Amino acid sequence: MDTAKMWEEGWLQKQGEIYILRMFMPFPLKENNCFIIEADDGWIVLDTGVNLEQNNDLFISALKAIGITMRRIKAVYLTHYHHDHSGMAGWLQEMADVPVYLPVDDLVTWQRFIDTDSYFDIAVHECLLMGWPEEFVRELSDNINYINTYIQPLPEFVPYSAGLSLNLHGQEYKAIAVPGHTDGHVVFYNSAGGIFFTGDNVVDHTILHLTDWPHTYLSNPCDTHLEALTGLKKLDAGLVIPGHGKTFTDLKGKIDLIAAHHEKRKQIVYEAVKTPSTAWEVAADVFKPNQYIHIRRLVLAETLGYLASLLNGGQVERELTGNRYIYRRT
Ligand SMILES: [Zn+2]
Repeated sequence: MDTAKMWEEGWLQKQGEIYILRMFMPFPLKENNCFIIEADDGWIVLDTGVNLEQNNDLFISALKAIGITMRRIKAVYLTHYHHDHSGMAGWLQEMADVPVYLPVDDLVTWQRFIDTDSYFDIAVHECLLMGWPEEFVRELSDNINYINTYIQPLPEFVPYSAGLSLNLHGQEYKAIAVPGHTDGHVVFYNSAGGIFFTGDNVVDHTILHLTDWPHTYLSNPCDTHLEALTGLKKLDAGLVIPGHGKTFTDLKGKIDLIAAHHEKRKQIVYEAVKTPSTAWEVAADVFKPNQYIHIRRLVLAETLGYLASLLNGGQVERELTGNRYIYRRT
């Protein structure tokens, strides 16, 4: 794409010192954001897009529009491992010969996820325990194999932990853990300018899922996630730059909306446990059926997130009956 068109059509935007590149994505959210920012000794890329030729072209055009070459890229940082954020990291690693940094807890998930044989066993076991009918579970494995085509070549990751500090455009950004959407998800916060890179935790136009089931090791992702999000309200946010969609300013207001949304849905899930039920039965009762396997997984995942919170609060209990977990109100 020629550089004038990049700016005109908004594929590339500049917010202060931060370049925001919109990437195409063949999933329901349709696009995601990749950030290109000057650092101490070159430039860094924060999050990428899925690896498609179209996105490779967009990235190369963006560098041209900014006026830098691939050799100026020194590192890639990822807020979390999901395909739409990590997909092009391997391509970038090959093109620019750079390290790719991933939060350490996501590295654990990632390794299990790309090792599809063992992943499939774990996923099937988890899904069947929750009452997901076996014929649908098979579709999940096909879907995983399909979306894994968008992350080739696979990068070699270097793990990093929350607390990491990056110097970007002359200012300090700190990595803060916000587990839930993935176990290792981090956000980057710049206290001097009040700039927040929130990844998939807080986006303006929608509310993304708060659990990465069945890939998660968190026992109570709902409460863990909301607690971490609420902690962010203490920080002074001026500009919020999300992983998808437009930038916005009212972080606290958005976090309150997210918390209220999940509280309401948790209550609906509680009401749906009228009789002893599997999580699958509860999810089917509460949420509209969706033909898309990935969404079906997310619906069950979210239901399980709320059920785990209700379990933790003592409002429901569960028991392994045969090879299914049955939930009932206490
Ligand atoms: Zn994500």
